[in-house]
Amino acid sequence: MKITAVRAHVLEAPIEDRFAFSQAWVDRRVGLVVEIETDAGLVGWGDGYGPPWALATVIERYYAPRLVGRSPLAGDAIWEELYNALRDHGQRGIAVQALSAVDIALWDLRGKHFGAPVHVLMGGPVRTEVQAYATGLYRRSDDRQTNHRLLRAEAEGYLQAGFRAMKTKVGFGFQDDVALVAMLRETVGPEVELFVDANHGCDTVQAKRLARAIEPLGIGWFEEPVEPEDLEGYREVRASTSIPIAGGECSFTRHDFRRILEAGAIDIIQPDTASCGGLTEAKRIADMAWTHGVRYNPHVWGTGIGLAAAMQLLAVLPTSAPAFGAHQPLLEYDSTPHPFRQGLLVEPVRVERGIAHVPSGPGLGIEIRRDVLERWRVGP
Ligand SMILES: [Mg+2]
Repeated sequence: MKITAVRAHVLEAPIEDRFAFSQAWVDRRVGLVVEIETDAGLVGWGDGYGPPWALATVIERYYAPRLVGRSPLAGDAIWEELYNALRDHGQRGIAVQALSAVDIALWDLRGKHFGAPVHVLMGGPVRTEVQAYATGLYRRSDDRQTNHRLLRAEAEGYLQAGFRAMKTKVGFGFQDDVALVAMLRETVGPEVELFVDANHGCDTVQAKRLARAIEPLGIGWFEEPVEPEDLEGYREVRASTSIPIAGGECSFTRHDFRRILEAGAIDIIQPDTASCGGLTEAKRIADMAWTHGVRYNPHVWGTGIGLAAAMQLLAVLPTSAPAFGAHQPLLEYDSTPHPFRQGLLVEPVRVERGIAHVPSGPGLGIEIRRDVLERWRVGP
């Protein structure tokens, strides 16, 4: 089997109900989907999390010429070759995000070739069901009362759908953040897990003050309190609070995560499979985190392809410690408006009553709706 073509599709869709995290309002969803064709008639699909036009350029100009004619089965060798091709200029960021998309598509092809899901090729499954938490509860209005009304209803909707864990956004100012988190805790009750995410929108002083104030509200983790480069800041925030500190969606490859783990900076790392280096690198990072006794919950913010890739990884992530009450990894289930997230899949990844089911078909276990791909594809 040889690779005959590599295509990068840029997708974009406006959304009507815009929403905000600590830095910006989101009024459109974008995606980068890579399609790898082979002479065996098999096609592999991958998802890249990053600025899609930049990723498409890297894939088409720098990676595709190195892929055509190669066997997609040589995953580790190809990973190293592509990483080396841009290593001097792209040890993190766009080059690694583009590599992630290619790597996921190669795993999809390998699974289809051997007639096995990716998690079986990776030595699993360790689990076939994963508890999902709803990612949502973004700010939806500049007016605090309106915002609280909308988000209370949104949180109640997640409860009714069966979610037992959910995440909201902070980084809008101390009073605003504390009022919102208190309102949400009151809405969901004491037993539902509540996480907060600043998207590195605080400095160390702000993050420590916020953590102290919301600590009595039983917060499951405080995600990206400070800038991802600031590992000292992470350690300082972590030392100041009993709330577990999470982060890692803006970090890349085992090299970044080695520094994070050795610094003792984070309780729960969150590499994005479609950004940290693909499934190949995510598994290496997971094994390192396991060795350091650090939890791993993948960040997920892409199309259904990225979601399926995350599920394949979640199926093989280690359990923290062998016990009846062992902590299991969680799926980040993006519940914000997105016109082509699961719509891109012939059969959506199944999430029922807050439990996600690992796709069991070959490769990523999904098929792509070309009509939906074409509908949202932009550019040449
Ligand atoms: Mg986040």
